[in-house]
Amino acid sequence: MTASPHVVVIGAGTLGLCTALNLVEQGARVTVLEAQSIASGSSGRSVGVVGSQFTDPFEILLRVHSFRRFRQWEAEGLHFNHIGYLRLARTQAQMELFARSVEMQAEAGLTSRLIRADELRGLVPHINPDGLEGGLFGPDNGYLDPHDMCNFLAGIVRARGGEIRQYRKLLGVGRGPGGYRLETGSDPIDCDVVVNAGGAWAPQVAELFGQRLHIWPERHEAVLIHLDEPLDYTMPMVMDLVNGQGSGLNFRHEKRNELIAEIHKVHSVAPEDPDNYNDQCEEQSKVDLAELLMERVPDLPGARLGRGWAGLYPVTADHRPFVGPIDPSEPTLVTAAGAGGYGIQLAPVIGQIAADWVLRGAPVSVPGSQSLAPSAERNIPGH
Ligand SMILES: Cc1cc2nc3c(=O)[nH]c(=O)nc-3n(C[C@H](O)[C@H](O)[C@H](O)COP(=O)(O)OP(=O)(O)OC[C@H]3O[C@@H](n4cnc5c(N)ncnc54)[C@H](O)[C@@H]3O)c2cc1C
Repeated sequence: MTASPHVVVIGAGTLGLCTALNLVEQGARVTVLEAQSIASGSSGRSVGVVGSQFTDPFEILLRVHSFRRFRQWEAEGLHFNHIGYLRLARTQAQMELFARSVEMQAEAGLTSRLIRADELRGLVPHINPDGLEGGLFGPDNGYLDPHDMCNFLAGIVRARGGEIRQYRKLLGVGRGPGGYRLETGSDPIDCDVVVNAGGAWAPQVAELFGQRLHIWPERHEAVLIHLDEPLDYTMPMVMDLVNGQGSGLNFRHEKRNELIAEIHKVHSVAPEDPDNYNDQCEEQSKVDLAELLMERVPDLPGARLGRGWAGLYPVTADHRPFVGPIDPSEPTLVTAAGAGGYGIQLAPVIGQIAADWVLRGAPVSVPGSQSLAPSAERNIPGH
């Protein structure tokens, strides 16, 4: 490979754009190919929450790297709403895990604290604390507009000489002695390395290279909640999952008289076709959501469900992203996909690790991230 390789990144969602950014910063020649427009995939349909309230040290480490980048981009003009993130606990065992998370986050330089059940109303005056033992709160966590994030990243990529070609779908792949010849319906593009950041379409992209990638496109819904009166406090992101994982709901501030809520289901019955799925919220989901909301925040002033939508989580069998080559004998095809419900918050660190693979042949800058490669053990059918 040449000292400054030509890298083509497939997909202009958060993962593709963060990868492109890390690559141009390190001197690579980068072209991003996007079948539709910037943020038109899952990224543009997400609710943009960025949090670090996890209990696994590696998950926290990944977010430390992501937060470092978010803080830098915020200083450069990306708008980040620091509304805080409250993860609720229903058992003492969960509270003990949360206490360990506070320690782990403190060691990693992140701020969080435990909230007892009798303190919950101090943070969220409308919350019904029945059945809750307390929560884990990160005051610096928050959300951003994922369209803004993608356009912000695209701006930096372009300013550093990268090219972003929208409405240019990768249709076919030829192999030459030095790399790939990519067919997009107009002039073919020659390159040394390809990064597959195709989100829910990443398996189709891998197939063009004769490789198999197991990512399950799972449909998730979000709904706006309008309030008759503005709240006199900022609703943090509230994550209320039964048993700390699986099913439940979350909701957060969007405007002073508007919240966004999401319902969590344990599993979807079948993988969705990313080119043909119902991108609207189903009526039954709204009913289910209303019931959960009435239980947890029963007295929100004049709460009405508004517009809803659906998008896809690109999910792997073990619910961790794929970053690295599928086939170690083909290191010039790097995958950066499968971030499930965390592809906004993990995109900065995934982009960093993917760029490591491209430019250094190994994920040298994030300890333990070799484990994210789509190895034969991990790249298996899920569900
Ligand atoms: C309702 C909802 C809420 C969510 N909330 C959050 C949240 O709060 N926080 C969080 O971190 N994550 C959240 N997520 C998850 C997050 O949106 C995804 O993990 C993330 O957007 C995935 O990004 P991506 O870049 O991998 O994929 P995408 O954004 O889908 O980008 C892939 C791109 O590749 C393009 N593409 C595909 N095939 C080709 C081809 N052959 N040639 C060229 N281009 C191609 C597609 O057009 C697409 O634009 C949410 C998701 C949903 C649906």
